[in-house]
Amino acid sequence: KNYLISQLRAASVGRENDVFAQLVGGETVTFGALFAGAERMAAALVSCGVVPGDRVAVQVGKTIQAIELYLGTVMAGGIFLPLNTAYTGPEVAYFVGDASPRVVVCDPARIDEISAIAGAAQMMTLDPAGQGSLRDLADVQGGFDPVAREMGDLAAILYTSGTTGRSKGAMLSHANLASNSATLRDYWQFTAEDVLIHALPIFHTHGLFVATNVALLAGAQVVLLPGFDLDAILEAMPKATALMGVPTFYTRLLGDARLTQERAANMRLFISGSAPLLVDTHEQWEQRTGHRILERYGMTETNMSTSNPYEGERRAGTVGFPLPGVEARVMEGGAEVATGDIGVLEVRGANVFQGYWQMPEKTAEELRADGWFITGDLAKVDSDGYVTIVGREKDLIITGGFNVYPKEVESLIDDLPGVLESAVIGVRHPDFGEAVVAVVVPEGDGVSVDQIRGALDGQLAKFKQPKQIVLVDALLRNTMGKVQKKALREEFAEVFA
Ligand code: ATP
Ligand code: MG
Repeated sequence: KNYLISQLRAASVGRENDVFAQLVGGETVTFGALFAGAERMAAALVSCGVVPGDRVAVQVGKTIQAIELYLGTVMAGGIFLPLNTAYTGPEVAYFVGDASPRVVVCDPARIDEISAIAGAAQMMTLDPAGQGSLRDLADVQGGFDPVAREMGDLAAILYTSGTTGRSKGAMLSHANLASNSATLRDYWQFTAEDVLIHALPIFHTHGLFVATNVALLAGAQVVLLPGFDLDAILEAMPKATALMGVPTFYTRLLGDARLTQERAANMRLFISGSAPLLVDTHEQWEQRTGHRILERYGMTETNMSTSNPYEGERRAGTVGFPLPGVEARVMEGGAEVATGDIGVLEVRGANVFQGYWQMPEKTAEELRADGWFITGDLAKVDSDGYVTIVGREKDLIITGGFNVYPKEVESLIDDLPGVLESAVIGVRHPDFGEAVVAVVVPEGDGVSVDQIRGALDGQLAKFKQPKQIVLVDALLRNTMGKVQKKALREEFAEVFA
């Protein structure tokens, strides 16, 4: 049998006529139709020459056909390789060159551009309405018996977001995906009664695996939105039960007066992840809706590793506890740190990936032989066991030989009146090696550089205080709501030169 597919399908066996997806415009797709569509996609891919282990690279809009393509690739024994729709031709060229897929599926609007860099791959198309040459080919296929695949076989290669450097291809097995989704379904209590607002992109682990797989495993319904759409989310909310989002979803929703306790009355769960949720957002959300957002933490390489509890206290600013079956430890200089101290977070469990695609050295550096994965995130664990992510190791600032954790400085600045948010970075400095720079977004009546400076003086050791404070309109973020600190460092690289 096909390990992942049989698990994803199990919850809907005997419920083929129940609705899986509500599409924009009112059309619905049943579980039966979804899996039949996936089988036709699998047959179409096989007719394109896909054999088990082949990569199928996909850069398409979010449609039910794109989800069928994901499931169909896995049914055919292939390895699904989704790409951010924002990637340009040269960016796609890197991924296609790296992964040498058998088939590349793109938007017909970009067929010339993508064909030119796709090498020997078979080109197929799928547009934002779910139409294209792949759909045409799939429509004339019959049923398909999923190709047998074991727990350890690869189901997907997902490239990391490229926040800290070049994206790396994380190899994810059938068991990695199936085990994590089952853990999340149980931990967050998803059932066939749930209606999940699905507004995340499906080229990233959050929307593809956390949202889609958990819904399928639970036999739940999704309201499938092609992207973040404030009106559509607010409209769906009264009849939905759950929302998964990145922090920007929540700040944008808070900016709309239609978000009220009444509108959220049927909802049981709001989940946030992929980037840090501000404590302020958490508190405002609770005031406005009566719900405490459940924040969790994960990576492309590990799926989800920690989560705040469903029942117990959801503690703002933390990412909760290691999930059942996931071990976590905080390391510094080869040893575990004392409770509450900061170090590099390592995780181990069935969720941890199989290594980086064609990067054996990188894999050996980050994935220990005994299964511990070095996340590169700095964290601390309090005496109750709650994990707090304090930033990335690569963003740690070393100034005059002293460590400065950006999060500590950011938290103080964020708490000041007139400040919306901030990003603290290290910039090359002739005397100190690196110097602390704070990039601050004001809100409301605003804030001056002198006010910020005055407020930090006395609260922070001199070496932690920003040597330069810059006010900006907004912080640069990617589609997953991640602040692009690498770009900020480049922008301000010369301020002390
Ligand atoms: P790259 O590895 O290419 O630099 P990336 O790490 O941003 O990119 P992803 O795998 O998409 O790529 O993101 C994982 C990272 O996102 C984590 O390592 C962590 O830094 C951050 N993250 C995820 N969830 C949270 C959260 N709840 N709070 C804080 N950070 C989070
Ligand atoms: Mg990463």
